[in-house]
Amino acid sequence: METHLADFIRDTTAGREAEEILRRCVHCGFCTATCPTYQLLGDELDGPRGRIYLIKQVLEGAQPTEKTRLHLDRCLSCRSCESTCPSGVQYTRLLDIGRAVVESKVPRKGGDAAMRGLLKTLLPRSRLFGAAMKLGQAVRLVLPPPLRAKVPPLSSAGPAPRGAHARRLIALAGCVQPSMYPNVNGAARRVLDRLGIQMIEAPRAGCCGAVRLHLNDAEAARDDARRNIDAWWPLLESGAEGLVMTASGCGSHVLEYAHLLQDDPDYAVKAARVVLTTRDVSEVVAAEAAGLAPLLQACAALPEGERELAFHSPCSLQHGLKIRGTVESLLAAAGYALTAVADSHLCCGSAGTYSVLQPVLSKRLLSNKLAALTAGAPAAIASANVGCMAHLQGATALPVKHWIELLDARLSS
Ligand code: SF4
Ligand code: SF4
Repeated sequence: METHLADFIRDTTAGREAEEILRRCVHCGFCTATCPTYQLLGDELDGPRGRIYLIKQVLEGAQPTEKTRLHLDRCLSCRSCESTCPSGVQYTRLLDIGRAVVESKVPRKGGDAAMRGLLKTLLPRSRLFGAAMKLGQAVRLVLPPPLRAKVPPLSSAGPAPRGAHARRLIALAGCVQPSMYPNVNGAARRVLDRLGIQMIEAPRAGCCGAVRLHLNDAEAARDDARRNIDAWWPLLESGAEGLVMTASGCGSHVLEYAHLLQDDPDYAVKAARVVLTTRDVSEVVAAEAAGLAPLLQACAALPEGERELAFHSPCSLQHGLKIRGTVESLLAAAGYALTAVADSHLCCGSAGTYSVLQPVLSKRLLSNKLAALTAGAPAAIASANVGCMAHLQGATALPVKHWIELLDARLSS
């Protein structure tokens, strides 16, 4: 696509990157067919090709409007279009650039600005969020149903393994997962311990930064990345192999650290090393197949009625990290029979803060996703990301678990 970027952006890092991305797009429209918001709304401007065109116009100097911003706001950043695109267009990087420019030219007002400010303040602060979640859990039963759906019951991390191993991996506790689903990292710690790997955490690490980036605060997201790198660096220097991510949303964002900090002379090299050594927990467990197989063979058979399982692959896992089939193979090896799930490439509508900021579209996506997940009459639903788990669990009576929790339970049987 031919571009003529305006003076205000042409010679900046963002401008050069946007130009390169725009030039790759041949406007074929293949991506439109797999875009969840286009499928719901049927408007070209609510699909990737239309959004790319809107961003191009703005970067070429056109004045954006609130309508421009709305079409960009409706994007889930799910990256389904990137999986489909034959030209390798890095759509979400262009979207981040476009959103930042549009936001600066059409500032938000009133309730929209206040809600985004609240989300940016509350979600990334794990202590503040944890205190609010504890309060919600204490009064959960008397909460109005829409709010109750967003508050999982109180749970624990389960027993911590006592053993130490020469092999160590650093886990990210994250911002919301410790208070909503503490058993996820608890289960990962126990499974990795059985495979001879010690999972450790850096207490000063916090939110990966995805929340702030998706709310158009790239500088704050860079600060989150720098703080985490500072927390992880001494552990990496003292022999930890790398990082293991139990939330695919965080993992997908941490892989962006090198890009986010490319112009930071103090952090660019460190960020590149972090990216090189970061793996999703499914990749770590799958790499230990030889050690896992005898442990699974020693497990009791799954009781009748518990075998059927539907797996919801988060967008961050399949489109962001491009991990497809790995979790499914691990669950099958653990004795589960995975039911067929139609349109498994489509987002469930959680998408970070999307369920709060775009509740109508989010609910429609959730309803479609649950219909697809329950079509095969599973006994439970498995996923790989805290946001999807909370979103799905809020609308179904079926148990929704992280797959590592299911594997941990199997290995304990
Ligand atoms: S599939 Fe790729 S090249 Fe084709 S319109 Fe979409 S982003 Fe552009
Ligand atoms: S990121 Fe998802 S919602 Fe956004 S344009 Fe691409 S496919 Fe559509």
